[in-house]
Amino acid sequence: MAAPAPVFDSPDPSFGDLLAARPGLALDPLAGLMMEEVPLARIAAAVGTPTWVYSAGTLRRRARLLKDALAEAGLDASIHYATKANPALAVVNLLAQEGFGADVVSEGELRAARAAGVPAGSIVFSGVGKTEREMRLAIAEDILQINLESAEEAEMLSALAASLGRKARVALRVNPDVDAKTHAKITTGLSENKFGVPIALAPELYARLCALPGLDPVGLTVHIGSQIAQGVGSYRAAYQRLGQLVRELRAAGLPVQRVDCGGGLGIPYRDEVPGSPAALAGAIKAGLGDLGVKVMLEPGRWIAGPAGVLLSRVIIEKKAATRRFVILDAAMNDLLRPAMYEAWHGILPVAASGFHAPLSPADVVGPVCESSDTFTRGRDLPALPPESLVAILDAGAYGASMSSTYNARPLAAEVMVDGARFAVIRDRQPYEALLAGQRLPDWAG
Ligand SMILES: *Cc1c(COP(=O)(O)O)cnc(C)c1O
Repeated sequence: MAAPAPVFDSPDPSFGDLLAARPGLALDPLAGLMMEEVPLARIAAAVGTPTWVYSAGTLRRRARLLKDALAEAGLDASIHYATKANPALAVVNLLAQEGFGADVVSEGELRAARAAGVPAGSIVFSGVGKTEREMRLAIAEDILQINLESAEEAEMLSALAASLGRKARVALRVNPDVDAKTHAKITTGLSENKFGVPIALAPELYARLCALPGLDPVGLTVHIGSQIAQGVGSYRAAYQRLGQLVRELRAAGLPVQRVDCGGGLGIPYRDEVPGSPAALAGAIKAGLGDLGVKVMLEPGRWIAGPAGVLLSRVIIEKKAATRRFVILDAAMNDLLRPAMYEAWHGILPVAASGFHAPLSPADVVGPVCESSDTFTRGRDLPALPPESLVAILDAGAYGASMSSTYNARPLAAEVMVDGARFAVIRDRQPYEALLAGQRLPDWAG
């Protein structure tokens, strides 16, 4: 079943609008679409397609914008990049060099963060279902903080840490029952969601944490959703409630040193107007500024999303009775967001000629055997004959990290651009890897 095409009440942004809002990209009249100083066509020729391409300059610039906004608001803050957005070692390593720690949600991400050079003392472990094995690793590595999501999990971690003669530093994830006004699949701060503990039950539970032998409670954490794209009103409401809770806990004599403010800041994929880092810092300051708490932030998408494109080649253009289908060599197994969230992504031609050619509506699709393998419908694009290149924009977060090998399609290569240089940071998965580790049962003929 194809997902219904979302209906917008504004025209799609033009190619010029898309470029103007993305300083990592530029159009060269001869070389075509460039990321920083590298023509994307050169990367396609060298590495093949589909390929994820990330701008180191954009990652650095955004990391600094966020750090500066927190510093200007006078907040004592640390930033822990949510590696699930893009766990490529080269990306996590670059952000570690900018002073970012990591927010991880699995053993795999914890290992990746350590392999990328993030000190254990800057790692936060989040997630609603940490296994005992994951807890053991987090304790053994002595990471900065484990974010607890339930009373049951607190008991389990305390027993484990105590049996190892340790105390685990923990924060309690509170569900503030605030509507983040984002897509239903990525909202997490409503009472109906599986995340955190209801704010009304937090005082009793926090007191219980303080009494457990294997825990060292350091504060609270909250994460209300992802792609929060309508200002910072929901953040304000959440941090206000958290601030109240901090006061209440302290009045009861309980220690609260840190508040982890989560992630979720949205980016403009189309024409959304999400809150700025300064507005987010303002919301934190308004809710928590006078409490003397150490503030933590866990951004993923805002840092990495705009830094990446998915570079793809047209296999063929198919003209049907009423529609033009542009069939790419990238598919929903690579970039899942359009199929999963009806997400809108900008799509630019890579050849300079494509920016001046006449436009007509096209459905841009992948070759996977699903109608939902559709990147967009009715998008105004130039003629895109076989072998033309396109760049799908804002694919740096929840792109490669959500991809699969559905239809036995190997994972795409990943490239990082830095100024005039580029490097393959992850090889295209070889076909042998799709078969590796498989075997027939010994009873098979
Ligand atoms: C996913 C997640 C984040 C990052 O969300 P973004 O929308 O990418 O900023 C931060 N914290 C937690 C607990 C998460 O689950």
